[in-house]
Amino acid sequence: MIKCCSLYSGSSGNAIFVGNDDTKILIDAGVSGKRIEQGLNSIGVSLTEIDAIMVSHEHSDHICSVGYLSKKYDIPVYASELTWNGMEDQSAKIAPDNRITFRPDCWFEIGNLDVLPFRIPHDASEPCGFSVFGNNKKVTVATDIGHMTNYLIKNMESSDLLLIESNHDIEMLKCGRYPWHLKKRILGDNGHLCNEVAAKTIAHLVKSGMKRFLLGHLSTENNFPELALQTVTNALGEIGVRTGEEIFLEVAPRNTNSKVLELI
Ligand SMILES: [Zn+2]
Ligand SMILES: [Zn+2]
Repeated sequence: MIKCCSLYSGSSGNAIFVGNDDTKILIDAGVSGKRIEQGLNSIGVSLTEIDAIMVSHEHSDHICSVGYLSKKYDIPVYASELTWNGMEDQSAKIAPDNRITFRPDCWFEIGNLDVLPFRIPHDASEPCGFSVFGNNKKVTVATDIGHMTNYLIKNMESSDLLLIESNHDIEMLKCGRYPWHLKKRILGDNGHLCNEVAAKTIAHLVKSGMKRFLLGHLSTENNFPELALQTVTNALGEIGVRTGEEIFLEVAPRNTNSKVLELI
């Protein structure tokens, strides 16, 4: 059985646990070490059991405690070369042996899990999403997505669980109080994914047979969990699919952990 749990999700900090009995991975460490510890403990995992931290990109909401945790618990950190270059403050705290570089689209192994990192369009050095394979299951995590591409959909396909960004409602963002330059950044090709595109993507993936989805990295300012869920539910309704028994769909909470999803 492979388990996945979003510990924190959003611009205030991200951390996701994926693991099985033998191998335990943290994807991003974008809240304090203390909060990561609390989040893991609440699902019965200790930081001393973590085998690796994988970094999606160098924005602070994804990396702020990476260096501290690696140093304190001697945890190897996996990032792409350009991401390493973009987070020198963190890498300075990490022992050279614990700095491991992956290349997007190239498989690597952590314990008994296989990982395929893939590129994401976003305004960072070399942002990546991850598909983690273990126990005959595939878990994919992809947030901070400027726009959807066929390449991204290919990487998401046939996942047993997908955590996908559903950042904002376009109308809320446009009418909201963010300054114009920030609105332009979020709406741009390298910004964040809106509810509508997340919904369309999920509907496409459901048609291909996928069943479990977590919506993540929701904006506090330009979204509501209910609105994100409703937008996806509507898109699924249009293709004659109901959420609930058939399809698992929930929002990954901002300040606490999601349900622990056990994929058997
Ligand atoms: Zn982010
Ligand atoms: Zn980002």
